[in-house]
Amino acid sequence: MRALALGVDLGGTNVRAAAVDRDTGEIVSARRHRHGDRAPASVVLDTARAVREAAQQAGLDLPEAGRVGVGVAGQCLGATGTVLNAPNLGWRNVAFGELLSRELGAPVRIANDLSAAAWGERLHGAAKGLDDVALVFVGSGVGAGLILGGRLHEGARGVAGELGHVKVRPPPGTPPRRCGCGETSCLEAYTSGVNLAARVREELRAGAASSVRDLVQGDLARVSANAVEDAWSAGDPYARRLWDEVSDLLGNAVASLVTLLNPARVILGGGVILHCPELARLVREKLAAQVSRSAALGLSVEPARLGDDAGVIGAALLG
Ligand SMILES: [Zn+2]
Repeated sequence: MRALALGVDLGGTNVRAAAVDRDTGEIVSARRHRHGDRAPASVVLDTARAVREAAQQAGLDLPEAGRVGVGVAGQCLGATGTVLNAPNLGWRNVAFGELLSRELGAPVRIANDLSAAAWGERLHGAAKGLDDVALVFVGSGVGAGLILGGRLHEGARGVAGELGHVKVRPPPGTPPRRCGCGETSCLEAYTSGVNLAARVREELRAGAASSVRDLVQGDLARVSANAVEDAWSAGDPYARRLWDEVSDLLGNAVASLVTLLNPARVILGGGVILHCPELARLVREKLAAQVSRSAALGLSVEPARLGDDAGVIGAALLG
């Protein structure tokens, strides 16, 4: 009989729970629920329901199934299960691990969603078998998951890998931007999908000339990183400048990460990087140009392979 583990991927909009084969990483059953309400008590109930349904579908009983691993889109104190800051959920200092554990009657292990995703990619995806890996994610947010010496590296309190919140010097002419975390001039404030779209919208409203406006047929609510990518491909000077600036910030941050940690592989994931190939190419070019030569030796850069499943697989198998 195959051994199964239960994992959860908790995002700002949905929660997804799955029973995962411990040996192969295969998702045996999965349930997704959209949050009716983002209040912690309500999300705890949604999450517990998704876990129970996924377990039942896979023929698992709680709490015999063991510890439930949860990847949360936010900064988490892994040891205590407290979510310090989850902007997409509007949470600060929520004892989510404890609340969920009480609701399920089973132990719960909380980690940052990108830490969970890095662990999933390491066990069954683009970093299989590698002991030193950095997963860098550029999507609605920006962050990293770190595997060092074969172990998930979460730092002293669980908040390692917050690449999106390293501070960057705003590009010349760009005003400092506030980040969802409440601080100013975070990398994420300039490079995440949500923040990029907000900035382009502001600049178009202020009269910037760009074919992005035509691509979204004047409906600025439809502005996205994908629209900038399309404008770039059509030679739009505004998009060229923006991608140059964004890739410079991202390439420099990843180069610093690689120089510092010397991973064997960088895995690039997240909707912005996976759906904007020209931006991804520029980031890789700038990474190659700015990384220290010694850390670049033998370094490979690969796209994430498990997609949206990485987080839930990694969470289930956190151990
Ligand atoms: Zn921040």
